[in-house]
Amino acid sequence: MADPKGFLTTTREEPKRRPVDLRLMDWREVYEDFATTKLQKQAGRCMDCGIPFCHQGCPLGNLIPEWNTLTWREDWQQAIERLHATNNFPEFTGTLCPAPCETACVLGINDDPVTIKRVEISIVDRAFEEGWVTPQIPAVRTGKKVAVVGSGPSGLAAAQQLTRAGHSVVVLERADKIGGLLRYGIPEFKMEKSRLDRRLAQMEAEGTEFRTSVNVGVDITASELQESYDAVVLAGGATDWRDLPIPGRELAGIHQAMEFLPPANRVASGDLDASPFDASGLDVVVIGGGDTGADCVGTSHRQGARSVTQLEIMPKPPEARSDAHPWPTYPMIYRVSSAHEEGGERLYAVNTQEFLGDSDGRVRALKLVEVRNEGGKFVPVPGSEKELPAQLVLLAMGFLGPQKKGLIEDLGVELDARGNVARDKAFKTSLDNVFVAGDMGRGQSLIVWAIAEGRSAAAGVDAYLTGRDVLPAPIAPTDRPIA
Ligand SMILES: Cc1cc2nc3c(=O)[nH]c(=O)nc-3n(C[C@H](O)[C@H](O)[C@H](O)COP(=O)(O)OP(=O)(O)OC[C@H]3O[C@@H](n4cnc5c(N)ncnc54)[C@H](O)[C@@H]3O)c2cc1C
Ligand code: SF4
Repeated sequence: MADPKGFLTTTREEPKRRPVDLRLMDWREVYEDFATTKLQKQAGRCMDCGIPFCHQGCPLGNLIPEWNTLTWREDWQQAIERLHATNNFPEFTGTLCPAPCETACVLGINDDPVTIKRVEISIVDRAFEEGWVTPQIPAVRTGKKVAVVGSGPSGLAAAQQLTRAGHSVVVLERADKIGGLLRYGIPEFKMEKSRLDRRLAQMEAEGTEFRTSVNVGVDITASELQESYDAVVLAGGATDWRDLPIPGRELAGIHQAMEFLPPANRVASGDLDASPFDASGLDVVVIGGGDTGADCVGTSHRQGARSVTQLEIMPKPPEARSDAHPWPTYPMIYRVSSAHEEGGERLYAVNTQEFLGDSDGRVRALKLVEVRNEGGKFVPVPGSEKELPAQLVLLAMGFLGPQKKGLIEDLGVELDARGNVARDKAFKTSLDNVFVAGDMGRGQSLIVWAIAEGRSAAAGVDAYLTGRDVLPAPIAPTDRPIA
């Protein structure tokens, strides 16, 4: 156990976020540094419970009480070893994970939970600073060739596990850079890309080969892929976005979030001078109240939007857990992300009926109506219609699943009832040597699940290729978070 009285004597403390007016002037991460002494005290609040529910909350099964204790004892090197034992990329989860471990923390029953995510990022940052994150070159090569299609967190986790197991792994990515949504979806202010690049450097040194600008299913046929490699891991994500086919959708100035965010990320990383969808001086309306929507809000503010409004069809969630989401589940509550703290307005229980245009064919406003949820149907409240000015509208209403055209149709792989790639307990698809991991098989989800699935799929591939059972598989495809 860490500090036996820590949870009694220390209250939860998080690092401060940089002042809003300063952070809106750049794309850097929003948190200030956190003193090591403070961090150790936070780790010392861990009670090392007999049944650590945080393990259950974390899809990777991270050994949280162990590394909390090691952090409190200042044994940082052991701490990163225990952390890396279950998580290939703690710097991705330590910055981006919604931390279902914390909502499952036993201390959270009647007090504030341990700042688990903060301890996680501090351990891995320290390890990189000290030079402890070095390539792990496999001692023995199997001579087997594996192709991983897609370079998001699931593909990267599968690739790292399989390379370390001795296979020759090639990651094929249709974008011009590696990283999937970590590179071009998630903005720099949530996770700086230097975190991704230093991890990719480790993977390359371990022997993973990266090939960009290769659209599998177009540049390489699916059958060529199956024939050229002993096994294939599909990790192409759930990129098929949900649209809003209402009157006026054809007007100029209405874009999908994933049309808007990638060029903004390219500007932030210096690869592009100006985004074609710049929000500067405009009234921006973001339709969709989730993470993707919040990323559009933060990006619009950094581009200098005149106003930003985020719309959500659901009612405003409660401030605290409701009976429907008891501990240790991940509750639906009202959360204020760093992007929301930076300004803008959030409107709940509203629906867009129509986009209204000007004489040039550009969007000028949205026709909104308040809605009531009646038995799962959103019913307009009579007389509540109003116009909301907007010259830029961003659609952030989620994703329907993987893109079918190209790779999936070409392979002829079976889909499940939700339109994702179907798989068995070993993450194998309906095709003999083809496996699937991440959002492509699971549907739109989280980075922590993508990494967990990448690790599990790698275990399935390794067993298929060698007959052995050596790689850890944190989850089965049917596992769901406590929710
Ligand atoms: C804007 C946004 C913000 C998000 N923020 C968070 C967050 O803060 N925290 C969190 O936990 N989750 C977040 N998510 C969800 C998270 O990013 C995803 O769940 C996760 O990235 C899925 O990983 P993946 O590896 O399955 O797929 P992806 O990251 O989507 O990567 C798939 C890759 O496959 C490539 N690809 C697809 N088809 C082909 C092909 N035929 N040939 C070659 N390459 C191909 C794509 O170009 C892409 O690079 C966010 C999602 C979005 C859209
Ligand atoms: S990966 Fe997410 S759930 Fe797991 S310990 Fe880290 S923050 Fe918690």
